[in-house]
Amino acid sequence: MTLDKILEEIKDAEKIIILAHETPDGDAVGSCLAMKLALEQLGKNPDVVMDKVSRNFNYLPGFDEIKVKPEIENYDLAISLDCADFKRIYGSEYFDNAKNTIVIDHHGTNNMYGDFNFVNPASPACCQILVGIFQYFKIEIDKEIGTCLLTGIITDTGGFKYSGVTAETFEFTEEIMQKGVKVYEVYKKALDTKTKANFELMKKVVDRMEFLEDGKVTFTYITNADLLDVNAEPGDHEGLVNIGRDIEGVEVSVFIRQIEDDDKTYKISMRSNNYVNVSDVCFVFGGGGHEKAAGASITATGNTEQEDIEQVKNKVLKEIRKVIK
Ligand code: AMP
Ligand code: MN
Ligand code: MN
Repeated sequence: MTLDKILEEIKDAEKIIILAHETPDGDAVGSCLAMKLALEQLGKNPDVVMDKVSRNFNYLPGFDEIKVKPEIENYDLAISLDCADFKRIYGSEYFDNAKNTIVIDHHGTNNMYGDFNFVNPASPACCQILVGIFQYFKIEIDKEIGTCLLTGIITDTGGFKYSGVTAETFEFTEEIMQKGVKVYEVYKKALDTKTKANFELMKKVVDRMEFLEDGKVTFTYITNADLLDVNAEPGDHEGLVNIGRDIEGVEVSVFIRQIEDDDKTYKISMRSNNYVNVSDVCFVFGGGGHEKAAGASITATGNTEQEDIEQVKNKVLKEIRKVIK
């Protein structure tokens, strides 16, 4: 079975690189650092390469060893975690150059771009898939690995509250509590601690929030000028898309932000509450994700920033109107 093949590939490889999606979230960071520790138990010394990681996660073991650019170019094995497609991998060139590739992910839109793919969309976090994989590999899930895995689970489930949470989520949490992991500490650090810049962005996002389609859709945005204005660091936009979804009567919350280095391109984040599959909506724009949390990118062609924002908003709304009741 696939997991036996994956273990064989790992055992046979000397130079291993671990990668995740760009603008990594808690699940991406937690998965990569947990995998690093697991491979170390198997006698390997892998590189973890990731885009600018939010300093919120600096409590994780191995955080200081994350590389932005590795010295090696051709790895024996590349492992991509929490990433639905090849073009979203940060450091995709290393994946491309590697002799063998493994993909472990939980996105329904994953297009199986590895030599070996282990994808389970029923799992609420990539970190939760790793629990089962590590158990199968007979890796000891100690306090350190447990902390990494719990970080991904807590961030991707909004603190155990999203619909994807399963009984296994709690069984695993119980197990690692027995190992001495303090759930409230991870929760506080991974989810409940806001940077000052994140709070300042929240004020802007709330102020600009529009209610559309009879209050069933919210729309809001931030620009690169906003990020400069509040001295934002990587990850400071996290969580802003959830604000709209939590308002009574809202089915879909849309949050867009200009991407760094390209003021014409906007990263779309979408969340839904009940029946709208935002992954399908984002798929129309070349993105994807999960039924209730998804993303995509759209490049605008307006004459001004406000025109660009209106254009992106209208494109997204046109698709949402097709599915909103
Ligand atoms: P975000 O709104 O960036 O927090 O993303 C929500 C979910 O959708 C996460 O699980 C992302 O990994 C996924 N996602 C975001 N953007 C894309 C994309 N362009 N393609 C595929 N999945 C995405
Ligand atoms: Mn992720
Ligand atoms: Mn994830």
